[in-house]
Amino acid sequence: MATIENISQMRDKFPALRQKVHGKDLIYFDNGATAQKPDSVLSLLNEMNSGTNGNIHRAVHELSAKCTSLYESARITIKDFINAHSTEEIIFTSGTTASINLVANSFTTKFIAKGDTIIICEADHHSNIVPWQMACERSGAILKILPIDENGEWMMDKLESLIDESVKIISVAHISNVLGIANPVEKLIKIAHKVGAKVLLDGAQGIVHENIDVKKLDCDFYAFSGHKLYGPTGTGVLYGKREILEDMGPWMGGGDMVESVSLFKTSYAPPPLKFEAGTPNFIGAAALGEAINFVQQFDREFIRDQEYALTTSLLEGLKSIDGVKIYGESKHKLPIYSFNIEGVHHSDLAMLLDKMGVAVRSGMMCCEPLMTRFHTTGMVRASLLPYNTIEEIDLFITAVQKAVKMLK
Ligand code: PMP
Repeated sequence: MATIENISQMRDKFPALRQKVHGKDLIYFDNGATAQKPDSVLSLLNEMNSGTNGNIHRAVHELSAKCTSLYESARITIKDFINAHSTEEIIFTSGTTASINLVANSFTTKFIAKGDTIIICEADHHSNIVPWQMACERSGAILKILPIDENGEWMMDKLESLIDESVKIISVAHISNVLGIANPVEKLIKIAHKVGAKVLLDGAQGIVHENIDVKKLDCDFYAFSGHKLYGPTGTGVLYGKREILEDMGPWMGGGDMVESVSLFKTSYAPPPLKFEAGTPNFIGAAALGEAINFVQQFDREFIRDQEYALTTSLLEGLKSIDGVKIYGESKHKLPIYSFNIEGVHHSDLAMLLDKMGVAVRSGMMCCEPLMTRFHTTGMVRASLLPYNTIEEIDLFITAVQKAVKMLK
């Protein structure tokens, strides 16, 4: 059970949650955009930046050896966290966007030809739309779209009609950053694999709210960012099945990704280094490992209970507001709610909430096609993490009601 004691114990680790904004105690409900960082992550960043700083994999000196060890230990932590087969399957990137672009480049170059099909979803983030449009332009592949219904759920019957042997990859969000719905990815993966199509899951939100087991999921790629998982910005991961990564060429060339270089020819290092050209964000990667150690201190049941309590309480609170329209009502919701209020502009509401110390996101949330689907120019989003509380939700709902009175 999630108890007040262990939630406040968790909150205590986050200095950013203790600040005042516009003279008010901060209520931070923009975790879908980026999470705050616990002390342990901040200390490691500080310690490495101010002391243990030596470029990895290259030198024999102590600082380099320590950083290499921290970087490679973080890779092991991540491998265990998502239950990958081996560390060769864990590629460090600068975030979800970079991970998806890596696949959209390397996988497409190797495996996709003119007339093949790539499928994405209409609810996806721009990071999972634009790279695939670019991949189609380069390769001559056709882009097809998995639609969603009025509640924001995938229309699985439509998927069956899009799928055939021309489909080489389906790239979709595990959890929508706007709708907060956990999509039926297991089912989609089974359907895709029947025709030999690979599946990339955009796990930017999924990694935060679900227990990820890539072996059980059987996805071919899983992409996520560190900064949404209590880790540093500019960090991320691409998980890929080893046999696919071995067949894919590198996307970027440079130092550390080679086995041997002559002036006219290069042989590449095996994965993961083949995909990590140049000096990586090794301090960030080590701190991402620390963020995952932090998450793992908390009992999974505690996290699940707390997320459930926040989700139900937020829904109840929002439903009590006159004229509210909530987008994406599903049984599979996480504490990410996007909404509008009749007669109120989303950005006006978000601006007034900010003045009351409440941080929410407003606008298109990098999902313009989804906004078009719901005939709106934007929404307000409250996205919570287990360190948020029911008391904060009550204060948030009161603040929304006050703001709406001022705006109407
Ligand atoms: N996909 C989803 C579902 C997201 O929520 C985000 C971040 N909002 C991204 C992709 C992009 O992540 P990043 O900006 O960290 O690369």
